[in-house]
Amino acid sequence: MATTPQSPLGFVNTDSLLSEEDIAIRDTVRKHVEEKVKPNLAGWYESASIPARELAKELGDLGVLGMHLEGYGCAGTSATAYGLACMELEAGDSGLRSLVSVQGSLAMFAIWKHGSEEQKREWLPRMAAGEAIGCFGLTEPDFGSNPGGMRTRARKDGTDWILSGNKMWITNGSVADVAVVWAQTEEGIRGFVVPTDTPGFSAPEIKQKMSLRASVTSELVLDNVRLPGSAMLPNVVGLSGPLSCLNEARFGIVFGALGAARDCLETAIAYAKDREIFDKPLAGFQLTQAKLADMTLELGKGMLLALHLGRLKDEGRLDHRQVSLGKLNNTREAIKIARECRTILGAAGITLEYPLMRHANNLESVLTYEGTSEVHQLIIGQAVTGESAYR
Ligand SMILES: Cc1cc2nc3c(=O)[nH]c(=O)nc-3n(C[C@H](O)[C@H](O)[C@H](O)COP(=O)(O)OP(=O)(O)OC[C@H]3O[C@@H](n4cnc5c(N)ncnc54)[C@H](O)[C@@H]3O)c2cc1C
Repeated sequence: MATTPQSPLGFVNTDSLLSEEDIAIRDTVRKHVEEKVKPNLAGWYESASIPARELAKELGDLGVLGMHLEGYGCAGTSATAYGLACMELEAGDSGLRSLVSVQGSLAMFAIWKHGSEEQKREWLPRMAAGEAIGCFGLTEPDFGSNPGGMRTRARKDGTDWILSGNKMWITNGSVADVAVVWAQTEEGIRGFVVPTDTPGFSAPEIKQKMSLRASVTSELVLDNVRLPGSAMLPNVVGLSGPLSCLNEARFGIVFGALGAARDCLETAIAYAKDREIFDKPLAGFQLTQAKLADMTLELGKGMLLALHLGRLKDEGRLDHRQVSLGKLNNTREAIKIARECRTILGAAGITLEYPLMRHANNLESVLTYEGTSEVHQLIIGQAVTGESAYR
């Protein structure tokens, strides 16, 4: 007997856990992504180029840049609403969500949390409006999972700072107006707000990526970049500075990865209902239904975990190690869902006409950045055993 089908998350009914405001924000972002972004994605992905400046302006007008921050032109929404926005953006493409995460959770958050009043006033309103793009330089060619070993140095010259070193894999790097760069100093790791037109700064784009093609990824070269003393973030010393920002971005990924997974699952269900194989719809075969049921389960579980972490964050009770639970589970399950959905589409699944392989390839980066899966296993392992196993 046929019954009226429900969407996977509609069936789990996670909307019953959302406030009206959460739903309104989510629906606004979803509409924007559906109407303005999705039609362009295959083209951007194939050509590996995005109109970053235009996109940033549109996202600023939409109000999602630094939306969970208070003041300085930011919307001051709940963390849960920010997570839901990330989910809708990543249902479009992980590259779009990366642009927003790096802008809001990394570059803007670093200035908002650790910056001087002057730095906040200078950069945050323009960044919230999408008039200025930010990037966040922590990773180096030889130091990714272990950023504490970084070689980029800042030395004092009178009241100025001179920055030298190389950063690698930096999202938005080549299109940024401002870079938040982390460097070793005599007193420990410090953050610097670097206008990208400062002499000695350059950001060559990294080409030939097979993942996050609709996102700009760059190297940052700092060749004796001279900055005034006021360029240093005054309110944090040590690795806790960049880690506090990563924690914000990881939180967005907990939700974001599920957006990519949802888009894949909805695509696969629609395709399976339409595709006739051995004289009946592919959706009517038990092997297909087993796949769809398992994926619905994982998507629903991931969503419940994301919402739980969102509520804890809104109540100020979220421990950074709990964010690792969400980042590890939801990226790992999302990439499995993307790959499984691809099998349901058969050959059609490998093209850009459908979003499956684009999402699956993107999720390779999402598994790796903001702490690799292995790093999150180490964080969780230490939380439950008390033993550190990094070295
Ligand atoms: C598309 C993209 C965009 C990015 N954007 C940014 C950005 O905007 N800013 C920024 O600063 N960085 C960015 N990154 C860098 C990202 O954060 C790093 O790639 C990540 O931290 C991993 O570092 P790595 O690539 O050097 O890998 P490595 O650290 O060399 O790791 C290699 C492997 O070793 C494993 N490993 C590491 N340590 C251990 C251990 N103790 N025990 C067991 N296994 C271990 C890792 O899990 C991984 O599997 C981006 C990366 C990508 C791909």
